[in-house]
Amino acid sequence: MSDRADLEALFAKHGYTDFKWIEPAQIVVSQWVRMKCMFGCPDYGRNAACPPNVPTVTECRAFFNEYHTAAVLHFAKSLDNPEERGAWSRKVNHALLKLEKEVFLSGYQKAFLLFMDCCRICTNCPGVRAECKSPELARPSPESMAVDVFSTVRQWGFPIEVLSDYAQEMNRYAFLLIE
Ligand code: SF4
Repeated sequence: MSDRADLEALFAKHGYTDFKWIEPAQIVVSQWVRMKCMFGCPDYGRNAACPPNVPTVTECRAFFNEYHTAAVLHFAKSLDNPEERGAWSRKVNHALLKLEKEVFLSGYQKAFLLFMDCCRICTNCPGVRAECKSPELARPSPESMAVDVFSTVRQWGFPIEVLSDYAQEMNRYAFLLIE
């Protein structure tokens, strides 16, 4: 069995079937994404895994260039109450950490997860990297690593649109870098 087949069996064991293999070189990294973090996002400076607590945009691109394989995992969800989003993100991201750990323990020493949302592992985040309450669990989101998620996932036909109200279905994406 190939390495990829082994990994796919591992993904299936964790319940992940809605994903695609991608080449990290095709991940679109853009300065405008960082500007959106800096101006207009309430998590800027308030989440210890979001800007300014992350590498520069140039360093983000360099990071992705160090990998040859990644999986992009799709999560679709509608929530009646926007307040439920944090709890949903926490649950999904905790589960993804288990997959990242098992991939790592399978021999992929560079395995690194980008959460499908800002790090919501703790209900109250101090917003400063050095004060992170669960540093072993904290991971950045694709957006906080300057990934243009829209342009990136559309290359593989994944759905993603700007949403105008909370009743619409969200299409969120996590990335697992593997090597
Ligand atoms: S693990 Fe907790 S404290 Fe650390 S970045 Fe995530 S939410 Fe913030």
